[in-house]
Amino acid sequence: RTAKGDLHLDRVTKRFGDFVAVDDLSLTVPRGSFFALLGPSGCGKTTNLRMIAGLEQPTSGRVMIGDVDLTGSRPYQRPVNTVFQSYALFPHLTVRENVAFGPKRRGESGAMAKADEALALVQMSHLAGRKPPQMSGGQQQRVAVARALVNRPEVLLLDEPLGALDLKLRREMQVELKRIQTSVGLTFIHVTHDQEEAMTMADTVAVMNHGRIEQQGAPAELYDLPRTRFVARFLGQANLFDAPIVGTDGDYLIVENAGQRFGVKKSRSTVTSGTVSYGVRPEKLRLDETEPTDLRPNECLVGPGRVTDVSFTGVSTQYIVEVPGFPPASVFEQNLDVDPIVTHVGDEVWLRWNASHAF
Ligand code: ADP
Ligand code: MG
Repeated sequence: RTAKGDLHLDRVTKRFGDFVAVDDLSLTVPRGSFFALLGPSGCGKTTNLRMIAGLEQPTSGRVMIGDVDLTGSRPYQRPVNTVFQSYALFPHLTVRENVAFGPKRRGESGAMAKADEALALVQMSHLAGRKPPQMSGGQQQRVAVARALVNRPEVLLLDEPLGALDLKLRREMQVELKRIQTSVGLTFIHVTHDQEEAMTMADTVAVMNHGRIEQQGAPAELYDLPRTRFVARFLGQANLFDAPIVGTDGDYLIVENAGQRFGVKKSRSTVTSGTVSYGVRPEKLRLDETEPTDLRPNECLVGPGRVTDVSFTGVSTQYIVEVPGFPPASVFEQNLDVDPIVTHVGDEVWLRWNASHAF
């Protein structure tokens, strides 16, 4: 049987001595999706990929594609290929020979034609005769991807593949890898510690921490409704407040802070009492220099507070606002006006937000 279908990790654990690198982790990656595994350095991302590739055996648990159990099979028996950050190209071979290397070694007919096809896919046909040392990092990256694709795997694993590139090239390659994935329709599992990269590229992001997955979902879902403080902070800036729950209202919890009640969207339907951390992203807060009188039914308001810091960042300006009874809040306002900064340090301000933006 050839393995085709969704990739499953079923309660996979990996121990190195006493150290648990991957901890009872279960995961489903839909066939044909662009899946990002996102987490800080040391959280177990590479170990996870190596178990999918067969370079490392799980201490317990299973690796499946569709209903085929791959646990225990050798790397070359798996319909899986890996692109490493180091590219690992042969410097003395041309680009075409590098890409044809795998099919040739397996004695496949038409190895060169297959290599040319893979090179066309990554838009590198024009450099087929060059050798890797004569190419830029981004070009070598494309060749490394072609060399993996030529094997026609079911699943392509990419372990921080853009880590060696400068920011501008990274951005270009993010778009480019996404284009390639869409055109070949294979399952891509992309490992990164860069939240922006994961959110830009992937259909689904799984956030890993200490060998476990804290949350998995579409990028906007994770950003707008994180389930843990870790996920909230790892995906971007978040103003987080601690407050007791004083009631519930449909999809909302009601919390009390500094004598006021606020609606907060539930990220876990099971939590209905106790103290919670709730959060609002900086760009979801609005500043008013006078007390607003036009509040909509779902809007929350606190104030007056004082602006304690203003930093111009180009696209937006960041304000730090201190309101009595609350920790300092960060506010981003988009710079749409000719004179973007009208609020200054020391000014009195009110903060408002829509309850549907509080999680
Ligand atoms: P990431 O890729 O997320 O940075 P890794 O999967 O490389 O994390 O590593 C996870 C943890 O497992 C780290 O603390 C690392 O030191 C440890 N680790 C990885 N491989 C080995 C090994 N072969 N022996 C011992 N510890 C290892
Ligand atoms: Mg790693």
